[in-house]
Amino acid sequence: MSQPPKNRLSIPEYAMALAHVASLRSEDPYRKVGAVALDADNRVIGTAYNGLAPGYNAPEGFWDDREARRKYMLHAEVNLCSLFTRGSAKLIACTTMPCTSCMQMLCSYGIKEVYYRDVYPDSESPLIAERYGIKLLQMTDYPQLLMTPGQA
Ligand SMILES: [Zn+2]
Repeated sequence: MSQPPKNRLSIPEYAMALAHVASLRSEDPYRKVGAVALDADNRVIGTAYNGLAPGYNAPEGFWDDREARRKYMLHAEVNLCSLFTRGSAKLIACTTMPCTSCMQMLCSYGIKEVYYRDVYPDSESPLIAERYGIKLLQMTDYPQLLMTPGQA
């Protein structure tokens, strides 16, 4: 397979750039994660980000306790998988390596390729991916076209 021309994003780069944009919508002040799913023809199925249940408005002080909020956060991959049925997505890009639980879910949905940017230290995703023959690759050099709010 030939390499794409230099002025064109590869499919994984394209996916990661979209995941990055999705992460900018996260309301979590501590960890913003975005994800995108592509089908077998590289068409975008949808994007998602981590957050609270749809329609839930956090009360005053909810975000003050970083640890206490964790169990209520719906991970970007969970929200993403709510957009398609098993076998319809081929590739996932996620700005953070899927946690163990999310990687198990991605296996269940038949995902073949997973790209991530940031390492998630406690995740057992590498072992799960190796066991089930899923391509799990870190990608840090995709073109960062948009800055995170607050960055110069
Ligand atoms: Zn997760």
